[in-house]
Amino acid sequence: MIQIDDGFAYDVRVVSEEASVGDYIRLLDRFLDETVAPCFGCDNCCSQRIPLTLPDLYTYAGKDPEEIKVFLKEKCEVVCQGRVVDVKLAQRSDRSCIFLDREKKCCSDHLHRSLVCHSYICIPQTERARLLRETLINKGEDALIGSLCRWGVIDASFAGSYPPEPGWEGKDFEEILLKEVLPLSVFEDLL
Ligand code: SF4
Ligand code: SF4
Repeated sequence: MIQIDDGFAYDVRVVSEEASVGDYIRLLDRFLDETVAPCFGCDNCCSQRIPLTLPDLYTYAGKDPEEIKVFLKEKCEVVCQGRVVDVKLAQRSDRSCIFLDREKKCCSDHLHRSLVCHSYICIPQTERARLLRETLINKGEDALIGSLCRWGVIDASFAGSYPPEPGWEGKDFEEILLKEVLPLSVFEDLL
């Protein structure tokens, strides 16, 4: 935590050129465990749009495109509007996430939760922490959509809007290096 003008915010700093998205997720988990009160009894952020990244799909369904297709059909919504595609976790009619245990007000698959869920902390954040999170989510979703075009899950004509994102394909979060997937300006701002 660092002090900002009107209080405190959490910040993220990269201390190794080899830092991975997996490191980012693990350290956020540790920060949550050690610093932030647990969510028990609150499910306010589990009724929002939860976009998915390519490694989220690997985490949930493995790397076999056929298994991924089944997961997409059963647990996700794929929305194509104009030239834009959105891939997100399915929501029930009350907008709650398909993985939300509504009775216990907690995630029924907490271990596998997506990058969006892992990285959401409802306390103030610094600008570079916000930019890191948003950039990873946007690029990871673009990498997913590009792969779905190549696997024939969505019309290949969308591929032009989603060129390959270097550093994502076939990799788990631990194997994805921040320096390889972030724009240089975003990465350098984290050093
Ligand atoms: S992160 Fe915040 S808003 Fe979301 S469930 Fe936990 S306490 Fe509630
Ligand atoms: S995956 Fe889990 S943590 Fe994420 S929105 Fe759904 S219920 Fe909430």
